[in-house]
Amino acid sequence: MPIATVNPANGETLKTYEAMGVEEVERRLQLAEATFRTYRTTSYAERASLLSRAADLLDEDQGEIGAVMTTEMGKPVVQARAEAAKCARAMRWYAERAEALLADELPGENDVRDSGASRVLVRYRPLGPVLAVMPWNFPLWQVVRFAAPALMAGNVGLLKHASNVPQTALYLEDLFHRAGHPEGCFQTLLVGAGAVDEILRDDRVKAATLTGSEPAGRAVASTAGEMVKKTVLELGGSDPFVVMPSADLDRAVETAVTARVQNNGQSCIAAKRFIVHADVHDAFAERFARGMRELRVGDPALEDTQVGPLATEQGRADLEELVDDARRGGATVLCGGERPEGPGWFYPPTVLTGVTREMRIHREEAFGPVATLYRAADLDEAVLIANDSPFGLSSNVWTRDADEVDRFVRDIEAGGVFFNGMTASHPAFPFGGVKRSGYGRELSGHGIREFCNITTVWHG
Ligand code: NAP
Repeated sequence: MPIATVNPANGETLKTYEAMGVEEVERRLQLAEATFRTYRTTSYAERASLLSRAADLLDEDQGEIGAVMTTEMGKPVVQARAEAAKCARAMRWYAERAEALLADELPGENDVRDSGASRVLVRYRPLGPVLAVMPWNFPLWQVVRFAAPALMAGNVGLLKHASNVPQTALYLEDLFHRAGHPEGCFQTLLVGAGAVDEILRDDRVKAATLTGSEPAGRAVASTAGEMVKKTVLELGGSDPFVVMPSADLDRAVETAVTARVQNNGQSCIAAKRFIVHADVHDAFAERFARGMRELRVGDPALEDTQVGPLATEQGRADLEELVDDARRGGATVLCGGERPEGPGWFYPPTVLTGVTREMRIHREEAFGPVATLYRAADLDEAVLIANDSPFGLSSNVWTRDADEVDRFVRDIEAGGVFFNGMTASHPAFPFGGVKRSGYGRELSGHGIREFCNITTVWHG
């Protein structure tokens, strides 16, 4: 895949980049290592001041970088600006709280005495340069949710961004530089996926985080395993959206549409499988399909566009194959399902019913605005269908029944369960999955501690 900006709304190649050569990567690895030696000794107050400055600059740049993201990967420009604003908020969140989140921990007095010590504490120390392999779908957010905690913990970052968002990748390096971070604190490595293995094997790289597809995660995790390096993996998802009879149906339908098509349907935590209790299934199906049909699909640079094109031509072909496979297997298309004529990688909001376990879309992630609809006879069947997926990122449940809430919290196999709303990340709450959605957590105190050397300090 060339490193280039190609506008998904019309297929036009706007800018191509030469990948960095071995020598340039080596120079950057040296710089990362050298910077870490001093940056690790800075105080939380110093790091917080740099990160807050980056947040201010990002707020100022919101319009400009929002337009760049829209051009590079096709998200509606209103959503692009909102992403930039969210990143600035997350930076401030970590700037304000990192010191408290990483404060020394004091074990209980009895345990200290029992170990024969006079004093024991647990200190969170940084690990060193961390490699971040990131996807294009939230080209700012995915990076910032790694970088903000990593930098506050005293680590330095090396970003290998997706090849189709090079301008956003370079913007991020420039942003931290302008904010006053020492050169080498956060660097973009403009390289293809093929270069990742060697970089990860380098002794100067201490750990890696990857957000992306399962094959990419597997490749990075196996190399990291061989090298005995810590990894965090945020992979795909096929989140269930369960609707029980007690749900507020109007709100559930409205949220279901948004949850499925946010970011043109290309979000790991987008609700993808809609599992509706038989009592309300038909009413939900009719209104949900209408809501999907009525969305404004078009030029993502326009303020009132709700759904833009898919980010890549291959992404659209993959999605189309999943829909065609389901159709061949007997699924019914309630709306959409046909690629429009004309330039750009558009695909219409689509709803499928009659999906069976044999169809690929039942097990694979539909990374675009395509929803599958299931009818569940009762709560047990709803849980069964929800868990019948290789993924376990997050989940959404609509119910006003307290017993049902307990059952879902107990039984859903996912890293999150959101009741009467849709899954959204927030700096204060841990984010991540189980099963083939990956492991480890980002955000909150859990996220910032992932790339720390948790050190026991024992005094005799
Ligand atoms: P992708 O193809 O896996 O790419 C992600 C990143 O990994 C890119 O930087 C890519 O580089 C790199 N990469 C690809 N193959 C690699 C390999 N064998 N070794 C090392 N690096 C490799 O994923 P995508 O298509 O950009 O993103 C979509 C996927 O990401 C979906 O499955 C989505 O669910 C998942 N995702 C998950 C989360 C989460 O938080 N769990 C969030 C967002 C997206 P190139 O671009 O150069 O190929």
